[in-house]
Amino acid sequence: MSLKEDWRYANIEYLEKATFRLDTYTALSPECDHDHCSGCWAEFANFDGPEILHEGYVTAIPSKETPEPEFITQCTAQGMTCVPQPGVDGYQLHWVYPECFDDFRELLGFKLVSHA
Ligand SMILES: [Zn+2]
Repeated sequence: MSLKEDWRYANIEYLEKATFRLDTYTALSPECDHDHCSGCWAEFANFDGPEILHEGYVTAIPSKETPEPEFITQCTAQGMTCVPQPGVDGYQLHWVYPECFDDFRELLGFKLVSHA
């Protein structure tokens, strides 16, 4: 099966050529204490739990260029309060699991920078 047929591809495709850095997940607002991998929707959070990750690859994208993620729509539909991460100077952070990063790195031309 090619990666383009992988179910995560449609989710993560919009991050093509994005530049990531490896970082520890930090929730930016009390309204949303967790986030999801852009590819597989697996969870990042400050709190501990099964299958919750605390470290991953993150990229900042201008907020206006990104539509509301599907999982936010779903959270809202389920009555959960989950707003997109507040922008930092108009940017929003997008998190990706290491596994998804590795899988799609070549195909989508992900770039990786080291810590400043
Ligand atoms: Zn993922």
